[in-house]
Amino acid sequence: MALLQISEPGQSPDPHQRKIAVGIDLGTTHSLLASVRNGIAECLPDEHGRVILPSVVRYTTEAPGRQIGYEALAAQHTDPGNTITSVKRLMGRQRGDVHNVDNLPYTVTDGEGMALVNTVAGNKTPVEVSAELLATLRFRAEDSFDNDLFGAVITVPAYFDDAQRQATKDAAQLAGINVLRLINEPTAAAIAYGLEQGSEGVYAIYDLGGGTFDISILRLSKGVFEVVATGGDSALGGDDYDRALAHWALLQTPGQPAPEQLSATDKSMLYNAARACKEQLSHTNSAELAAPLGGGDISVTVTAQNFADSTAQLTLRTVQAVRKTLRDADMGIDDVQGVVMVGGSTRMPVVLQAVEALFGKPPLTNLNPDEVVALGAAIQANQLAGNHIGDALLLLDVIPLSLGIETMGGLVERIVPRNSSIPTARGQDFTTFKDGQTALALHVVQGERDLVADCRSLARFELRGIPPMTAGAARIRVTFTVDADGLLQVGATETQSGVQAHIDVKPSYGLSDDQIAAMLRDSFSTAQQDMQARALVEARVDAERMVLATQSALDADADLLTAQERIGITASISSLSDLIGSDASANAATIESHTKQLAAATEGFAAARMNRGIAQALSGKRLDSV
Ligand code: ADP
Ligand code: MG
Repeated sequence: MALLQISEPGQSPDPHQRKIAVGIDLGTTHSLLASVRNGIAECLPDEHGRVILPSVVRYTTEAPGRQIGYEALAAQHTDPGNTITSVKRLMGRQRGDVHNVDNLPYTVTDGEGMALVNTVAGNKTPVEVSAELLATLRFRAEDSFDNDLFGAVITVPAYFDDAQRQATKDAAQLAGINVLRLINEPTAAAIAYGLEQGSEGVYAIYDLGGGTFDISILRLSKGVFEVVATGGDSALGGDDYDRALAHWALLQTPGQPAPEQLSATDKSMLYNAARACKEQLSHTNSAELAAPLGGGDISVTVTAQNFADSTAQLTLRTVQAVRKTLRDADMGIDDVQGVVMVGGSTRMPVVLQAVEALFGKPPLTNLNPDEVVALGAAIQANQLAGNHIGDALLLLDVIPLSLGIETMGGLVERIVPRNSSIPTARGQDFTTFKDGQTALALHVVQGERDLVADCRSLARFELRGIPPMTAGAARIRVTFTVDADGLLQVGATETQSGVQAHIDVKPSYGLSDDQIAAMLRDSFSTAQQDMQARALVEARVDAERMVLATQSALDADADLLTAQERIGITASISSLSDLIGSDASANAATIESHTKQLAAATEGFAAARMNRGIAQALSGKRLDSV
């Protein structure tokens, strides 16, 4: 008997089947790239061994026109106007929507749909600037694996709206990256700590970065994270600690001007020195803050206590924001089962102590707080790429494909658009198509295409017992509810009678991510074709509705017409019906023009019917009032 073969640890039996998938933390100040190798998530360094890519792009007039990362950062004091930092704040935003936009060292103007940064190399959209950063990380990944990148999971703040998420995707596309999924930064951090494998409950993710503070409350149930609440301060981060320390140091040095009076160069020199001093104080009890300024050098010894005192207000603000967010979520400190620290600024002992005191338990800190988001994204990317054998359960915190309902003519009405985060609830009103219709066939479908035939059928059910009414009079509310498990429940209620029906569906069941990707690709490449098909179907449905309405009018009130009029209308009906039924000759425009002809031919008839209706109503009234 042949022995079963076992491969060497870390050696996948068929390396060519492995798809290169990475996680990218596209941060305001820093960006990182990570990947799962030999079962372990790790950050990938650049050729100098550095894992962090400063999120900075400097535009120049010399080829190749830009510098990226550390090189750009180094030129920041000398060329602040062309050195784009914190571009994440502009993503998917107009100039007026950006908090403190006037404090940015470069010029931002209004663009078409999104703000523009003005540089010597021309106006750049935030999407283009971000794409430079993403492309740099993509090349880093391809160099380190010596292979093409299959795809990436990119993280975004939990509070990012559709426009900001779309802008992030556009940037990835521009950088030639296939986005496997966008996931929320706090969710990524929780995944990095493997919390989804642990006990269910509520977790707080405390993320203090360079320029922003985000607090997210996540609830884990059945291996899926739901974002319960987000809060924080988009203008509070490590940079504020730098400024507070720098201002304190200025006060200690006689003869130094007030901070507002420093030149731009002096300011950035001083703040950088303060930052270095602050970072050193995370491991030592005192450090030097020294900078050569125009108005005389500055050199101060800073103790940990000096630092704590000069920045206490900032730390307090984060604590207050956490309390407020919990309050908004109707939760107390005791509801929180674990706290995860994210962001370089959580290395500051003052911050760690404050968070521990607030929650009454030590937060999770054993992963590198700069890297934790990228690591979690890498784990997710590895699963989505299908490399993680044996773990079939995909974390699902957005709907991968749109969910909708079949309407007349085999068209799809989308109710929950794809990438909606879950849990979610959406609803839409529908009505009956025929007079006296007492039941409604509901067909739930999944996919991005316009025709039901091109989407995936998920479930069918019926709503019965609708009171008979004229077509279009009934109001049927269809609701889609997706819970944190991705479990869909579709309900339908006729609002006048209250009759209802519902069904449970598991939408992502049985679809691999490859299938999802294929369905999406299909929908992009066939958009034009779908539009024509939709127009044709819509024309057919309108025509059919017209035929039915005319037919039932004839049945009721044919006596209002002369024989000749009746023949004319009947002929129009049958030619329109033929057109609806014929496959070959039909196009949307011909059907529409025939529908209009029938409408014109029945105008007089409709007016006569209306007069009769009014007369009947009036006579009815007289009877009533007798
Ligand atoms: P972002 O997510 O906003 O891009 P990061 O999470 O990378 O930002 O955090 C950057 C911030 O972390 C900077 O303000 C930096 O000074 C700060 N930081 C990094 N290391 C330390 C440290 N050892 N002590 C204190 N602050 C640090
Ligand atoms: Mg961050």
